[in-house]
Amino acid sequence: MIDYRSDTVTRPTPGMLAFMQSAPVGDDVFGEDPSINSLERITAAKFGMEAGLFCPSGTMTNQLAIKTHTQAGDEVICDEISHIYQYEGGGIAFNAGCSVKLLHGDRGILNADQILAGINPEDVHKPISRLISLENTSNRGGGACYDFDAFKAIKKVAQDHQLSLHLDGARIFNAIVQKKEAATDYGNIFDSISICLSKGLGAPVGSVLVGSAAFIKKARRWRKVFGGGMRQAGYLAAAGIYAMDHHIDRLAEDHKNATLLRDVLEKKEFIKSILPVETNIVIATIEGKYTAASFTAALKDKGILAIAMTPTQVRFVFHLDITEMDLAKTIDIINAF
Ligand SMILES: *Cc1c(COP(=O)(O)O)cnc(C)c1O
Repeated sequence: MIDYRSDTVTRPTPGMLAFMQSAPVGDDVFGEDPSINSLERITAAKFGMEAGLFCPSGTMTNQLAIKTHTQAGDEVICDEISHIYQYEGGGIAFNAGCSVKLLHGDRGILNADQILAGINPEDVHKPISRLISLENTSNRGGGACYDFDAFKAIKKVAQDHQLSLHLDGARIFNAIVQKKEAATDYGNIFDSISICLSKGLGAPVGSVLVGSAAFIKKARRWRKVFGGGMRQAGYLAAAGIYAMDHHIDRLAEDHKNATLLRDVLEKKEFIKSILPVETNIVIATIEGKYTAASFTAALKDKGILAIAMTPTQVRFVFHLDITEMDLAKTIDIINAF
């Protein structure tokens, strides 16, 4: 099977497995796992932040950030298609007791004016706007990226209104590679960033939350409360260290391959439209002889897995286990449809 369902489906490479096996480990709840300590330090430094926190999932790093930045009854401002709202099981309400101000961005990308308009006035009727959460790249936005100037304008709004600014950077390295950004610049904009190791970077497990030392200290306490304090998890952290050393630059190949698939899909009469392809995700809207479900079923018959995101949208995600040969085979199959 050629698996385009998600960039989470990758398996560790032999080099990654060897590196994991040789990792020094200890009890991380005692702060004694050298590999986790290294990963947290390396990731924080990369993003110009003081400290990091290794967690089992990106859902946990996002939820810990929301919990740490807010009090129950506060409001979180985010796009209506953002992962924190759509795909984290209502965790904003359950874990942090917060309400949500949903904004309608352009493919998941918000601008400063919209956010400014979404901030509640000082009024006892209204929840207190406390946190802005952005997503880069935007998953449901088809891998859309922010322009860095937009971040700067949003930062100013956040500062003017004393709001915290969080980034769901599950695919932040895709944006950094595509836009040729400096990772350290992100530390000047955001109060916290959630970074996934198990997406395009190809690690089997894990995400890192980065922020100030004081913020991470609080988040570490909440991680224990959430049940995310792990012990000799340095074997997993080592996969993340390896991935950051070996699997960032290659993301450019995934981006190139995604545009090649787009070019093929675009020509099919049953493809109504495709979201602009900026990184490793292709989201196509289906019409005519197929629905999203029947198209993915037909692909599956030919050995290709993709996800029906909505009744009319199919998503393909590129990652390090999709080779050029896999893509060539996929193109032949789709051309015959
Ligand atoms: C995958 C993803 C996450 C985290 O998901 P987990 O499966 O919990 O690691 C967060 N945000 C976005 C945008 C994602 O795509």
